[in-house]
Amino acid sequence: MSSVSSSRQFTCGRCGSTYTAGVYQMIDAQADPSLKEKVKDGSLFVRECPSCGHRELINAPVIYRDSQVLICLSDRGLSVEGLEGVQGRLVGDVGSLIEKVKVFDASLDDVPLEFCKFVTRQELGKDVDLKFLRLEGADHDIIFTYPENGAMQLLSVGFNVYEDCCAIVRRNPGITDSLEGLVKIDREWAEHFLR
Ligand SMILES: [Zn+2]
Repeated sequence: MSSVSSSRQFTCGRCGSTYTAGVYQMIDAQADPSLKEKVKDGSLFVRECPSCGHRELINAPVIYRDSQVLICLSDRGLSVEGLEGVQGRLVGDVGSLIEKVKVFDASLDDVPLEFCKFVTRQELGKDVDLKFLRLEGADHDIIFTYPENGAMQLLSVGFNVYEDCCAIVRRNPGITDSLEGLVKIDREWAEHFLR
């Protein structure tokens, strides 16, 4: 496999100019490691108007493939070939795709991490949308972000919480058994198992 992109025409949401920008349909992170960085910093999903500099999000369907995972960004479920030996994930928005890439790139598993978010939300006592940002320090503290009062908050969670969640996954074969094909591992999915 290799990466696939095409030029598309866009209309600037601010000045109305039309311009073309590259849009990826397939991102092969093994063949193009530089693309992985552009996914992680989000720049791959931004188009910029050459006339006025206005930047807008590209929210088009795309398949991201790395050595251990295939992530499909799509607003509907679909079947994808080439899932042998990799984890298949379905995401519904660019932010979730970026998060998954960061999670797998940090050698974490998004399944226990989603449980970890559940526990963290309960500890926090707030109903917030947590996103994984990075591991930090010698103890591999897990750094989450969440929006509050118009700003991004950072939250550090001990790696032991993640390890406890890994143990929960190991004790429940039903969880692993459910990971067939392209699965949407998100808050709703975790709550289904923990309710
Ligand atoms: Zn413009």
